Amino acid sequence: MSEGHEEGLHRIRHSAAHVMAQAVLEMFPEGKVAIGPAIEEGFYYDFDLPRTLLPEDLEKIEARMREIVREDYSFVYREVSADEARAQFKDQPYKVELINDLEKGGVDEYGNPTGEPVKISFYTHGPFTDLCRGPHVERTGQINPDALKLMSIAGAYWRGNEKNPQLQRIYGTAWETAEQLEQHLWQIEEAKKRDHRKLGKELEIFILDEEVGPGLPLWLPNGGVLIEELEKLAKDMERKAGYVRVRTPHITKESLFLHSGHLPYYAESMYPPMELEGVRYYMKPMNCPFHHKIFASKLRSYRELPLRLAEYGTCYRYEKSGELFGLMRVRSMQMNDAHIYVPENLFEQEFMGVVDLYLKYFKLFGIDKYVMRFSTHNAEGLGKKYVDNAPLWRKTEEMARQTMTNGGINFVEAPGEAAFYGPKIDVQIWSAIGREFSLATNQVDFAQPLRFDLKFTNKSGQDEMPLVIHRAPLSTHERMVGFLLEHYAGAFPVWLAPVQAVVIPITDRNVEFARQVQARLFDEGFRVEVDDSASRMQAKIRAAQNLKIPYMLIIGDKEQQAEAVNVRLRSGEQLGVKTVSEFIAMLKRVVDAKAAELVVSQ
Ligand SMILES: [Zn+2]
Ligand SMILES: [Zn+2]
Repeated sequence: MSEGHEEGLHRIRHSAAHVMAQAVLEMFPEGKVAIGPAIEEGFYYDFDLPRTLLPEDLEKIEARMREIVREDYSFVYREVSADEARAQFKDQPYKVELINDLEKGGVDEYGNPTGEPVKISFYTHGPFTDLCRGPHVERTGQINPDALKLMSIAGAYWRGNEKNPQLQRIYGTAWETAEQLEQHLWQIEEAKKRDHRKLGKELEIFILDEEVGPGLPLWLPNGGVLIEELEKLAKDMERKAGYVRVRTPHITKESLFLHSGHLPYYAESMYPPMELEGVRYYMKPMNCPFHHKIFASKLRSYRELPLRLAEYGTCYRYEKSGELFGLMRVRSMQMNDAHIYVPENLFEQEFMGVVDLYLKYFKLFGIDKYVMRFSTHNAEGLGKKYVDNAPLWRKTEEMARQTMTNGGINFVEAPGEAAFYGPKIDVQIWSAIGREFSLATNQVDFAQPLRFDLKFTNKSGQDEMPLVIHRAPLSTHERMVGFLLEHYAGAFPVWLAPVQAVVIPITDRNVEFARQVQARLFDEGFRVEVDDSASRMQAKIRAAQNLKIPYMLIIGDKEQQAEAVNVRLRSGEQLGVKTVSEFIAMLKRVVDAKAAELVVSQ
């Protein structure tokens, strides 16, 4: 969506929040209103009401909102003094609290800190006035009544603080057209079906166990296959791209992270230290300092550079328990990590190589929509938020920008959002149903090489400092598998599928031949099971479909006699009878091509 489009939606949603507040206050004249902003996919408003809202109430409120929309009131802006504002909201204690804060300055009407002095202003439509600085649509009639829906009721503390009164929050959504609303509702339903926590359980990919601890997933054998295949893929791609593999321990002495500068600033995101022989050790939250040590372990010549050190490193980070979420927010993560040590004159080429790797993965996984968010520094932050080296910032940013522009990469620039030690690129991707995931980060680093005194001997025989590129295109196994579960709805392409085929004997007479077929496929390196349970054939087919197993190989007397299998796809499509050799040849083609389809002709 274009920025103007987003801005338009924001106005519509924020206006809808006002309309909703009017409808709720008409229903509960004693009700108190708190705040009601537009949010990513809609809007909400928080209320303090004499009774708990019921689902029926939402229907009534929604119906009344449509009427207000049709009444087509203008939104009118007015700046006021704090006294005038307090008089207007004398029966609205939450608003008065906000007005007092606005008067003091430093926070906006939602109580969020802001750098600028704040004006106090009203927006009025018809009988309803809100403390607000907008923006809004011009008239309520610009909200499409057919593209509006109230979604849910939730509890929320005033100002997010549990010591404050609990309010009732109504969530709603609003779009420009009825089709957009419908698409949004479809996406929500589809996302529920594809929820990686639900599929992860049904397909036996991973579990979280109370006794092991929150955010520490256990990978079941099917998850183990996914991980093995992803690692095989990464190692193969990285080998071809000139990476070498290293291994580093999970714990380290405190001094290493003091040296890297992660301690004490990053301590909050780390597991607390353990003490051994009078020395403090930490679980590693990242792999970088270990790789820097490997780089620095001997004298390096320009001939060895770029040096690309890769490792699927397991890191441990402390995430608050309230923020943990399935595989997407965890405390232990296996990262597709690598650090590239590159001389400045080779940076552009190397950086493009990394971007290329991303694009190859996107193509392989059928990720059609992505954006690279390029965060750069700003001059005011130099020496505070950012390493104080303006020329190096400008140079690396320009090189990265040029590379992406030349490569036709879809990127947006976010000034002032860089990491402390260099410009970074966050990669956002969209799943098959159009939900956004932020997958991986790519960073250029010129601070760590300084801290670790990294150097190499350049062509003229002098010491030179390399730049470091941090990159993790396949993110962590946790996040990647969480994404892929939703993206494929659990129906993985054959090369990834934990079980690639299930052999289904129709009668007991066929079990032995079914086992022979399994053995032949197994010898060819495929993952195959036999369903020799007592269930009927239809039930076995259904079970295999529920597990999203790509191929069902059905064997009766006829097939057995012909050394053949009757092939059925998880989609329900029937390929018919194929000899075992024919099927193996086809399976090989599909897997070797890492095809998205289940059938690839010769
Ligand atoms: Zn407003
Ligand atoms: Zn790193």
